[in-house]
Order: sequence, then structure tokens, then C-alpha cells
Amino acid sequence: MALLLDDLCLHRTDGVRLLGPLGLALGPGDRLALVGESGSGKSLLAQAIFDVLPLGVVRTAGQVAAFGTRLDRPSPQRDRIRGARLAWVPQDPLQALNPRLTLGEHLALLPALHRGESHDAALARLRPLLDRLGLPPEPAFLDRLPHQASGGQRQRVCLAQALACDPDLLILDEPTSALDTLAQRAYLDLVLELQRERGLGFLWITHDLAVAAAVSERLLVLYGGAPLEAGPTGQLLASPRHPYTARLLDAARRAPSLETGFLPAPPDRPVGCPFQPRCTSADDGCAHWRPWQGSPAHGWRCEHPLRPADWAGPCTPCSEPST
Ligand code: SF4
Repeated sequence: MALLLDDLCLHRTDGVRLLGPLGLALGPGDRLALVGESGSGKSLLAQAIFDVLPLGVVRTAGQVAAFGTRLDRPSPQRDRIRGARLAWVPQDPLQALNPRLTLGEHLALLPALHRGESHDAALARLRPLLDRLGLPPEPAFLDRLPHQASGGQRQRVCLAQALACDPDLLILDEPTSALDTLAQRAYLDLVLELQRERGLGFLWITHDLAVAAAVSERLLVLYGGAPLEAGPTGQLLASPRHPYTARLLDAARRAPSLETGFLPAPPDRPVGCPFQPRCTSADDGCAHWRPWQGSPAHGWRCEHPLRPADWAGPCTPCSEPST
């Protein structure tokens, strides 16, 4: 398995739950999109995969492993995987790139670490990739500092950096959130082309269901740190079982929805289903919240799931128990 998360739980050090329990499995070449709004725990998950959780957040249960090696505890094997077989495309290139290093120095960092390649040898090897990404491979560009490149160029430098050691698996954390629509489309097409050519697998983290639909073959919907629904992308979009997935679809279609409100902050989340304050079908049973229905790869967690035949726009939850 390329990536395996087994009942991962993250808490604040004061005991407030932030994420989980969350299970997830990604095989070689799989394209999984993780969808959820701000505060749902998406970026924390990426940080947990690379074991770089922010101060005040701890893993309280579960495991994270890639290519058979635990990623949640230090080891020489883990050091050989991170940045080489498993690479991260960050959400904010300006924050991720070191303002004192040139773009060329950024690109040569991981090849030096994992392959012992010199700066010049790495840049020469990466030249076709830079061409492909529309990044000038000449010193006039590569000697620039990050703030001297455009936002789109910085985004593509981060992608080139992640691809520099020919990884098997990418974690892309909202990589297109700062791009305009055309640049975003070009970026998606490019990653999908590279994915097909290289047999790359990826976990694409996004708040945008349209992006998730365009890039993934499987979806996992996260809300308030809890997985709510998972399944094949086409099936989930055609027939969501969870009211929150239907709500995301309504938003993507700009369809009217009865549901309003915001995701509560972690300490204010209700016991049971975190979607209760915004769900028009919530009742007392939702505080107990029956377990996940179906398999981890295709299932949902809801007291009153939608009927498959019912959903053709704004959601109309049914009262049938899930099976
Ligand atoms: S019906 Fe209950 S369990 Fe299902 S989404 Fe609404 S609040 Fe959550």
C-alpha cells in the first residue's frame, strides 16, 4: 500500500478533538480527493502524514504509514521516503519557499539530499520537467528569489520541487487555491498528464468539489475532523448519501439549499455528528451517531442518509435507516 492511515486521531494538548478517527488507504497510482471546508482538518491531515504537526497538536491514536514504513515516528527508512517517494505540494508557496534561497537552489535541495546530486546536475536533469511546467530553465529565472517570481510560477516551482526525485505519491494541499480559473485548469491538466505518464498516485486536498471531481477517481468527504462519506467520485456526485455531501454539491451547482451556518470551532462541536447544527434532518439520535456504514472505501456515517433515487438537486433526506 502506498499510504495507509489507520484510525488516526489528532487532539489539541488540552484534549479537544481535531481530527479522526480516520482510516484511509491509497494504492499505487490511486487518485483520491479529500474534500471539506476550512477548519475540517484537511491540512492537519497533510501535516500528520509528514509528522510536522503544529505546536499544541498531538497524535493521540492510530498510525500513518507509507510504502510499509511508519511515518509517525523517526527512522532512517522514513527519512529516505519523505521528499523522495512521498512528496508534498504545499498550499502557500510563499510560506513554503525560503526567501533567502533562489528558485534553482530550492529545486536542487531534494536531489542533493536523496540522490547526492550536485546543484548543476540536478537542474540539468530537471530541465525537461521545467520546460513541461512552463518554467524557464535558464539562470536568469532560476537565480531569482521567490518574491521575484509570479504567484503561478511559485506554485509550479513547488510542484517541480515535489517531483524532483520522481516520487510515487504526491500529497497536494489546496495547490490551486491562489490561482485564477484559467491557471487552475492548466495546473489540473498538467498534474493529470504527469500522473498518467509517471503512474503517480496522489491525495489531493481541496475545499472545491469541482476540483475534486476533475482530478479524482475516489472522494473522501471530511467535516469537523470526521469522515462523513467516501466512494467512487462519479457515484458520490451522482447519488450522495450524506446530507453534507449533497450540500457541497448544491454549493458547487449554486443551487438553493435549506441548510445554512458555519462549521463550529473545535471546542464548540456537538457530541455525535458534527453536522448537527447545520442539518435540517438532525434529531436526538444524531448525538449518538451510529458507526460508519459500508466499507472504508465506500460508505457514509449518518442517521438519516439520503435515498439514492431521491437526490437530483437540493437534498431531501429520507427517514429510512441505513443498511
Ligand atoms: S441526519 Fe443526523 S447524522 Fe445525518 S448529517 Fe444530519 S445531523 Fe448528521
